[in-house]
Amino acid sequence: MFGRGSKKSDNTKYYEILGVSQNASQDDLKKAYRKAAIKNHPDKGGDPEKFKELAQAYEVLSDPEKREIYDQYGEDALKEGMGGGGGMHDPFEIFQSFFGGNPFEGGGSRRGRRQRRGEDVVHPLKVTLEELYNGTTKKLSLSRNVICPKCNGKGSKSGASMKCSGCQGSGMKVTIRQLGPSMMQQMQHPCNECKGTGEVIDEKDRCLQCKGEKVVQEKKVLEVFAEKGMHNGQKITFPGEADEAPDTITGDIVFVIQQKEHPRFKRKGDDLFVEHTLTLTEALCGFQFILTHLDGRQLLIKSNPGEVVKPDSYKAINDEGMPIYQRPFMKGKLYIHFTVEFPDSLSPEQVTALEAILPPKPSMELTDMELDECEEPTLFDVNIEDEMRRKQAQAQEAYDEDEDMPGGAQRVQCAQQ
Ligand SMILES: [Zn+2]
Ligand SMILES: [Zn+2]
Repeated sequence: MFGRGSKKSDNTKYYEILGVSQNASQDDLKKAYRKAAIKNHPDKGGDPEKFKELAQAYEVLSDPEKREIYDQYGEDALKEGMGGGGGMHDPFEIFQSFFGGNPFEGGGSRRGRRQRRGEDVVHPLKVTLEELYNGTTKKLSLSRNVICPKCNGKGSKSGASMKCSGCQGSGMKVTIRQLGPSMMQQMQHPCNECKGTGEVIDEKDRCLQCKGEKVVQEKKVLEVFAEKGMHNGQKITFPGEADEAPDTITGDIVFVIQQKEHPRFKRKGDDLFVEHTLTLTEALCGFQFILTHLDGRQLLIKSNPGEVVKPDSYKAINDEGMPIYQRPFMKGKLYIHFTVEFPDSLSPEQVTALEAILPPKPSMELTDMELDECEEPTLFDVNIEDEMRRKQAQAQEAYDEDEDMPGGAQRVQCAQQ
């Protein structure tokens, strides 16, 4: 309809910015802008210059009058026509008026948005403690739906579609269910004939590439960077990389860090814990051992001369814990928990030798008279935790039996009334 035959140079840039052809429809422009603007939004780490360019290109091309001037005479003519200053709006304003608010913000600002937002896709990202200590990049191959490039998401060769007869184009169907002699229930659900889209495509007109589905599957490799010090459950978001669908703002792909258990190191926040067992001799006379850290460095851990390590005690090393997220030059603490293994028994000679060097026993001289008056019970070895668990189980069993008795059952009934 417009004479586009005699074009000057510099009237293709805006189309290139949006990645559409010069014959692009308003729908195509919208789609291209939506996708690119989300991807390049500075709030999501995009380039502000690119974001501005996109808004500028979209503002001009979405206005038929401006588009005609641009197509005929190029960018400069447009600026002159607008009074030198260009008259461009703030790229954030254009973005907001397009989406009816900022799609990245929750709550009230979403009100009035014309498009629905696609679902986010959440994947677990399994990483070892070593990987979180050192940082790692994982390449993940995912398949996702993208708008069919052949039909631009129309689903048909001609671009035409018909109103669904099943729902008269509303996308919703109402069914009435008889609940009782005088009770009816009205239920609304998405139309099954058009999958809630309100339109159907004639079989002969279906796009050959997507078979009328409007989307096709695409394989995509994402490089996921798990930064040093990231925590279990932390999210890494790829905005707008989830399944595409027509008239839908594409959701995000979200990776959730799942830290695998480490055989040696346990993590609590930014601190690390290791268990170390000493023999009694090491605990009393000194120890040293090599601890290989999560980055392969070897730490020599040793006691001070004359130092005695008590069972169930801890020692800490500063700055040998986990790197702190986004401040990786700072690290937490490394705690070592000591267990001391005692010998099960000693020979009489060992006892004599030890008594000669260890501090003397408290004096406990007992007279024969005192001993005669005593009873001497037998001491058994016990595992106190097992013992307590057994006792608790017995008590629970007795309680359950009580509940089964008629009296018990009655009490429960009364309580329920
Ligand atoms: Zn329908
Ligand atoms: Zn198609």
